[in-house]
Amino acid sequence: MTIPFLDLKAINLAQQDDIEAAMRRVLHSGWYVLGKEVDAFEKAYAAYCGTRHAIGVANGLDAIFLILKAYGIGPGDEVIVPSNTYIATWLAASHCGATPVPVEPVEGTYNLDPARVAAAITPRTRAIIPVHLYGQSADMDPLMALAREHNLKVIEDGAQAHGALYHGRKVGSLGHAAAFSFYPGKNLGALGDGGAITTDDDDLAQKLRTLRNYGSQKKYHNEVPGFNSRLDELQAAVLSVKLTTLDQFNQKRREIAAIYLRELDGIPGLVLPQVAEWAESAWHLFVIRHPQRDLLAQQLAAAGVGTVIHYPLPPHLQPAYAELGYHAGQFPIAEIIHDEVLSLPMGPTMTAADAAEVVSAVRAACL
Ligand SMILES: *Cc1c(COP(=O)(O)O)cnc(C)c1O
Repeated sequence: MTIPFLDLKAINLAQQDDIEAAMRRVLHSGWYVLGKEVDAFEKAYAAYCGTRHAIGVANGLDAIFLILKAYGIGPGDEVIVPSNTYIATWLAASHCGATPVPVEPVEGTYNLDPARVAAAITPRTRAIIPVHLYGQSADMDPLMALAREHNLKVIEDGAQAHGALYHGRKVGSLGHAAAFSFYPGKNLGALGDGGAITTDDDDLAQKLRTLRNYGSQKKYHNEVPGFNSRLDELQAAVLSVKLTTLDQFNQKRREIAAIYLRELDGIPGLVLPQVAEWAESAWHLFVIRHPQRDLLAQQLAAAGVGTVIHYPLPPHLQPAYAELGYHAGQFPIAEIIHDEVLSLPMGPTMTAADAAEVVSAVRAACL
């Protein structure tokens, strides 16, 4: 590929010296799990998000799951999730024994529709998990108002939106708690798996620190049946380095997005991402839509432009959720989105010339 979908190696090599120094520091420390590096990263990430706490965990799925567990959500409870999201959001609810209740998005922004959320609330609903999909914040104020009215928890899934803003406020500080993934391809990515939870709730933070570490605060004393879901010292050290460039790298993504938005405007059949008036997107992905998506992807590949589909199949139609008995046609907005979306190359090491090449390839595609 002349323009790969994502050049992870280039992104990490942009900070090669600092990352190597951090990894060497951990190697020579002789301490590899829950130590100074995790502590330092948690403090830095909480400060970045503007929350009282950040708790490092093993990955993004665990981050959502552990929040639900810490709130005591389980069998018989319902958790509202987007019908269009990565399956992790649903699985976190299922793994607690709760029922994921899908709600359709606003088609323009791809994010949870507060009016439809209101209609989906039942006496069993305990939580809402808005996903800041593709890097753009969901409309949080109406969701928080619903939560107050119905005594629900709002758990942000911020896995795609590190550093994004909603009305000028950082994602991760908007709900009762937020989950982040540091999977390598995310805007803040480790060299392996990692995750974190941010919250202002002291009691929740205390529970989560116990739950992630075998239910133990004091070694070999287990207060609750916990889990092993810890962020490694090595990943935390790398993440502390990468956090220092997150805003600068998100700015680079915004510059690429601005080129795409300007230069791809007005192509028949092509739908560009809509930026809501409250949002400063982190542009994790630049997702376009086209009714002949597969043909477009093929032609771009032939022109040397890498693309990915996020995602080809919505959770309700995945074999993993066959037991819930959903069928095609039940969540039409999610289904049409999944049939038409295509993610163009996006990343902080792309240049304006790279973006121009993608633009020409899209314009040249005969559809
Ligand atoms: C990546 C992702 C997750 C899961 O994160 P992992 O670290 O891979 O477990 C959850 N939700 C969304 C929306 C994601 O994109």
